[in-house]
Amino acid sequence: MIVPTRVAGLEALDEFLPLAGSAYARDRNHDLGVSRRTVSGLSPYLRHRLVTEREVVGAVLERHTLGAAEKFVQEVFWRTYWKGWLEQNPEVWRRYRRDVDRAVDAGVPAGYDEAVAGRTGIDAMDAWVRELVDTGYLHNHTRMWFASIWIFTLGLPWHLGADFFHRHLLDGDAASNTLSWRWVAGLQTAGKTYLATASNISRFTDGRFSPEGLATTARALDEEPLPPRTPVEAADVVGSPYGRVGLLLHEEDLEPESLLAERPGLVARLSAVAVSADPGGRSPQGASAAVVAFTTGARDDAATRTRDADGRPARTPTDARPAAVVEWARSEGLDTVVTPYAPVGPVQERLTSVRGALSAEGIDLVTVRRRWDGEAWPSASRGFFPFRGRIPELVRQL
Ligand SMILES: Cc1cc2nc3c(=O)[nH]c(=O)nc-3n(C[C@H](O)[C@H](O)[C@H](O)COP(=O)(O)OP(=O)(O)OC[C@H]3O[C@@H](n4cnc5c(N)ncnc54)[C@H](O)[C@@H]3O)c2cc1C
Repeated sequence: MIVPTRVAGLEALDEFLPLAGSAYARDRNHDLGVSRRTVSGLSPYLRHRLVTEREVVGAVLERHTLGAAEKFVQEVFWRTYWKGWLEQNPEVWRRYRRDVDRAVDAGVPAGYDEAVAGRTGIDAMDAWVRELVDTGYLHNHTRMWFASIWIFTLGLPWHLGADFFHRHLLDGDAASNTLSWRWVAGLQTAGKTYLATASNISRFTDGRFSPEGLATTARALDEEPLPPRTPVEAADVVGSPYGRVGLLLHEEDLEPESLLAERPGLVARLSAVAVSADPGGRSPQGASAAVVAFTTGARDDAATRTRDADGRPARTPTDARPAAVVEWARSEGLDTVVTPYAPVGPVQERLTSVRGALSAEGIDLVTVRRRWDGEAWPSASRGFFPFRGRIPELVRQL
């Protein structure tokens, strides 16, 4: 079981550190089963920022040179890259949400129910569905094979596969998930698809699976052209706190200490703290029980770690709806609510409504983006390879 606390995340990081160099570069593509992990397993912690990218990369580079840990550091930056790319192309998220909503309203296509119940008759797919549902995790290579078989062998819509992942992955993330599915489908790098083959699956699963009857071709999907890119907001802090200031944490960033330490003087006195989370916002079909338990646990962990200026622990409103946030802010007599910036995705949608509801009460919402994101995101406008060239410079600033 993956424990949803910062302490457990830091322990997992510590345990993985010796493996982050050549062992990771050699073994990371192998999925040897649940009990023989070749990767860090840090994604649920990074996704909720119980542990930050900066801490992970910083600890790895204290132990290894950048040359030795290059592969691992690059993988962490894939997360940053996807987020920066989606920030600049929010239309991709809007269309994804629209298409999932429509499919759920209209009724799912033939074959969908069998696929998500693990009854396709393709042994590997059926086992991976069980692993995903039971553990809330799949290895990266397995996610690629799964998405490829879903789209090209089973002929199911990519966005419903992405929605199934998003509902069940503890690390389910609007950018990494949506854009990785698009990459497999040939939408992200136009025309370039990913085709899963039995020989590759057999080689990298140590012969555990060698599925028969897989598609032998993968024709790229197409889409309406995207609108021009939206530039990344230049300022890390949008708005200026005044009067009585409260802090509202959410499931995109649950480590306030380092966030506020980046901005000395921004909040002179923290009058109140609340932590809200709504894992069900990931999908019109809600999130799995495992995701709800992890996210709620992570929220509660952040609440116990975060106190206001008078030493009072954070409140955890019973729901994340704007009305509950307004009720908290009013009961504390706040003039300003400061919150970590939420990138494109469900939490950003929620905060847009929260901003409107607070504003109607004369309360300002101020967003604070981490320097890590502000420095890197503007470079995520094209492919990963030009972005990758900036990694040495970005890690020098750690
Ligand atoms: C179809 C598909 C869907 C995916 N959905 C998600 C998702 O919803 N959330 C998510 O965090 N990752 C997603 N990934 C990326 C990747 O599979 C996971 O981040 C990785 O498997 C997590 O395991 P780990 O922590 O052991 O990774 P490690 O290999 O130990 O990597 C360390 C960290 O780097 C980041 N990372 C590694 N690989 C990637 C990658 N390819 N893209 C983005 N970040 C990466 C993660 O934060 C990870 O914790 C998806 C990949 C595919 C192909």
